[in-house]
Amino acid sequence: MKFHSTNYNSGEIDFKTAILKGQAIDNGLYMLNEIPRIDQETLYSFRNMNFIEIALNIISRFIENSIKKADLKKIINEALNFKIPIEKVENNDYICYLDNGPTCSFKDFGARILATIMEYFLENDNKNLTILTATSGDTGGAVAQAFYKMPRIKVVVLYPRNEITTLQRKQMTTLGRNVITLGIDGKFDDCQRLVKNAFADGDLKQLNLSSANSINFGRLFPQTLYYFWSYSRIIERKNEEILFSVPSGNFGNLTAGLIAKRMGLPVKRFISAVNENDEFPQFLKTGIYKKIEPSKNCISNAMNVGHPSNLARIFDLYGGRIDETGKVHHLPDIDEIRKDIISYSINDNSTRETIISFFNNYQKIIEPHGAVGWAAINIFRKTYPEHNNLKSITFETAHPSKFPNEIISLTNVTPEMPNSLKKMTKRKEFLDQKIIKEYKDFKNYLIEKFSL
Ligand SMILES: *Cc1c(COP(=O)(O)O)cnc(C)c1O
Repeated sequence: MKFHSTNYNSGEIDFKTAILKGQAIDNGLYMLNEIPRIDQETLYSFRNMNFIEIALNIISRFIENSIKKADLKKIINEALNFKIPIEKVENNDYICYLDNGPTCSFKDFGARILATIMEYFLENDNKNLTILTATSGDTGGAVAQAFYKMPRIKVVVLYPRNEITTLQRKQMTTLGRNVITLGIDGKFDDCQRLVKNAFADGDLKQLNLSSANSINFGRLFPQTLYYFWSYSRIIERKNEEILFSVPSGNFGNLTAGLIAKRMGLPVKRFISAVNENDEFPQFLKTGIYKKIEPSKNCISNAMNVGHPSNLARIFDLYGGRIDETGKVHHLPDIDEIRKDIISYSINDNSTRETIISFFNNYQKIIEPHGAVGWAAINIFRKTYPEHNNLKSITFETAHPSKFPNEIISLTNVTPEMPNSLKKMTKRKEFLDQKIIKEYKDFKNYLIEKFSL
C-alpha cells in the first residue's frame, strides 16, 4: 500500500509514514496510489458478521502487515467500543447514528483509531510527537479526547473562539494534561492556516508535528467502516445498490464513502449535503471552482467550511489536481464525479424546517447536521422518483443535545444528554487567554510553551 501527495511534489511513502506525518511536505494530502478491492461475495457475507469482524476485515486491507493481527483487534476493540444503530425512518429511508461515541460525534471513529494506531507506532519506535489540529467545532473535542493521556503524544487544538458552542469548547478545555487548547479570534479557515504554516516551519522541527485533522489519512480510512457496516445491516440482495446522504463540511466523510465505493461497495449515488457554504454544489453545476471566503456561519456549525481540504483527495480520485489554496491545476473528470455525487445546499431556514417536520412526523429529534442530510435526501427523492426503490442511509453525525438552544426553540423539547457529556460539563476548564492573530503570535506561543 503506497501513498502519494495530492500536490505530486513529494515521494511515495507507506501507510505508517502517512499516518505519523499527517500531511505531505508539499502541503498536499496523502492519498492511496491504489485502492484495495473487496469482492461482492465478501461484502454480502458481512451481513452475518458483527461490527468488529467487519472492521478487522476492512482495516487489515489498509494496514497490510504494519500492525499484528492480534494488536489490530485490540486497537479496534478499544477505539470503537460503542454502538452504531441504524433505524428505518420511513419507506426506504434509514438513518445511521454515528453519535454514540465518547464525544457524541462521528469524528470519534477516525480520531480514536488514529490515536491508538499512532501511539502503537510511536511505542514500537520509541518516539514522541505533537498533534496540531484546527477545529470548526467537533474535531477538537473528538481529537482531544481520543489522544487524552496517550503517553507519547501532546495535542494542541485551535478553534474559532466565537463560532463554537460552550459544550463543544468544554469537550476540549476540560481535559488538561497533554491537551492544550487555543481560542482564535477568527474563523476555522484562519485556524487551519495557522496549523498549515506551523507544519511548513523548520524552526518547529523538534516538536515532530503531525496532524489529526481529516487531512490525516488515519482519520479517513476508519470512516469507511460505517459505510460497510450500515450497508450490511439493510441490504437484501447481493450487489444491491443504495444511496448515502452525507452531511459535508471538510469532505472527509464523503471522501471515505468514495473510497468505500472504489473498494467495491455498491453505491448508486452519494448525496453530499452542505449548508450555505455551497462551493461544492456550485462546482458540480458550473465546472468552475470558487472557494467561499470567509465561510458563512450556519447552525450546522461543524460544516462552516469555505474551502474543504479533502477536495484535494476527491479531485485526485477523479484525475484532477487542486492545491491547498483552492487553485485548480488540472480539472478532474467532472462527468464521472456527477455520476457518483449529487450535492445540495441547504440553507438555515430549510434546516430548521426539517428539524421541525422530522419531529412532527416521527416524534424524534434530529440535530442540525443530520437535518441538512435529511433535507438533501428528501430533495433527491422528489427530484428522482425513478430511484424510489433504492434504499438510502443518512448519517446523523452528532447528538442533538450538543445543540440545545436551537432544538429547544424549534421543538420545545430538551434533548436528553448522554452520560459522557453530562459528566464533562461539570468539569473545570483550562482556558488560555493568549491573543493569537498572526502566525508569528502562534509560533511564539509554541516556542514558549514547549521551551524550544
Ligand atoms: C465535522 C462534521 C461534519 C462534516 O464532516 P466532514 O468530514 O468534514 O465533511 C458534519 N457533521 C458534524 C456533526 C461534524 O462534526
